[in-house]
Order: sequence, then structure tokens, then C-alpha cells
Amino acid sequence: MAEKYRQMVLSGKAIEGLEIIDAHNHLGPYFNFPVYRQGSAESMLERADTMGVSKICVSAHAAIGPNMVWGNDEAERAAAYCPERVFAYVGVKPCSEREMLDEIEKRFAAKGFIGLKLHPGLHGVQVADNSYIPAIEYAEKHSLPVLIHTWSHADVSDLDGLSTRFASVPFIIAHMGGAPDVLDHALDVMRRRENVFGDTALSYAPHGSIEYAVKKAGAEKVIFGTDMPFYDPVFTLARVVCADIRESEIEKIVGLNFRGICPLIPR
Ligand SMILES: [Zn+2]
Repeated sequence: MAEKYRQMVLSGKAIEGLEIIDAHNHLGPYFNFPVYRQGSAESMLERADTMGVSKICVSAHAAIGPNMVWGNDEAERAAAYCPERVFAYVGVKPCSEREMLDEIEKRFAAKGFIGLKLHPGLHGVQVADNSYIPAIEYAEKHSLPVLIHTWSHADVSDLDGLSTRFASVPFIIAHMGGAPDVLDHALDVMRRRENVFGDTALSYAPHGSIEYAVKKAGAEKVIFGTDMPFYDPVFTLARVVCADIRESEIEKIVGLNFRGICPLIPR
């Protein structure tokens, strides 16, 4: 166990001497429940400071839901607000190939975008929906990570298929499958597929789940993410930092793994 980081968490102080990148955040108000201080970049950075998180990676709710362009505009402004610490995923909705590629190219011509985010659940389509393929081809061409919301066996199976077809694209299984009975399925795909990772964002905290993920899929496949601003991110950090795993494994999970698949995060 990494006693020094654990002691910092237990003292209530921000963690020092460890690069922590939160790879799964949102941005802006949400239709389904209240979001603290409207989910602004400023409010999330303040919370990140209390934990010692140096960088946050956001996708705008609007961009993964009802209004792709409006949401990505919001994400671009958030990244510009603090370019050293706030990075954005381009949210992509099912639409025509031309509309999708225009949107993606426009965003990567601007600063602050580092990957793609798909939320098939909010779009009412399957993970492997054909309309997403141009976006994934773009990720393949430009070595970008693709973060995909998952909450079912079907989602994970679809992602398994996509990761086989696009073997050089790093895919992140958001929430490691989400629903409790999907965890083992997600971990199996993470273990088998070299280009598949899973993130720690989850609104509940099953005891021992980080140790379990490390044992089943390997520490190099787990990526720190908190779903901030949906709920307080600190318990997710504590789940990782206080897990009964090696210090070197914690370092991979909280920052090194994401750096390895996300070349646009600056040094
Ligand atoms: Zn999320």
C-alpha cells in the first residue's frame, strides 16, 4: 500500500508529488439532476485543487446530448479559461459524415481538445452505431483516445468489436461497464484488448473494486476519472489512492496511463 499518499488523503490535504489527471469530467448544466455551480470549469478547478488534481478533461453535457456545436463551443471556452489545466473532448452526436467531420476538424484546429467522447445512451443509439464510424476513423488517423459511455453488456460487447476493428485507437470504457454485473465483462475486454482501458468514474464505491480491476485487467489498463461535477470526486480519488496496490500502480492509474494514450496533453 502506498502509505505516503494514503496519509495525505486521510489528513484531508491535497496530494503532493504525484501527477493526477482526471480523465472523465463533464461541463455545464444537466437535464436530469442539479449540478453544483452549473458545472463550470472554475468550480471544478477549485475542487481539483483541494485534492491535488492538476488537470481535468471535460465533455460538455450539451455536446454529448442535445446540441453538439453549442456544447463543443462551451468546452472550447472552458479549455481557453485555463489552457494548462482544462482539456476537452469533442462531443460527437450521430449525424451525417460531413457534419461530424466538419465539427471534429474545426475543434482540433482550435486549442484545448484532446480526444473524442461518445454517449450512445443519451443519443439513443448503440455504441457500434454506424454513424459514429467517421469519428473513430478520425481518431485512428490522429492517434486520439475515444471515451465511450457504457452501462450494459451490449455496450461493452460493441466496444469490444470496435476495438478489434480499430486496433490502434485507444478506447476508454467509461465506468468500466457501469452496472455492477457488467464489471467482469468490461475487465475481460480490458485484459484481452491491448487498446482498451477502463475508467474509475462511478457514483457508488464497491469495496475493493480498484484492487479487483488491477488484478483482473492490470494497473496499466485503469484510468482515473471522477465524473465531476455530477458528485463529489474526492471519494473516487480515495478509492484509488487508498487501494491496497503498489505505489507504482497508483501512479499509472492517476496519470501515466492516460498520458500514454493521450499525446495532446502537454508535458
Ligand atoms: Zn460521465
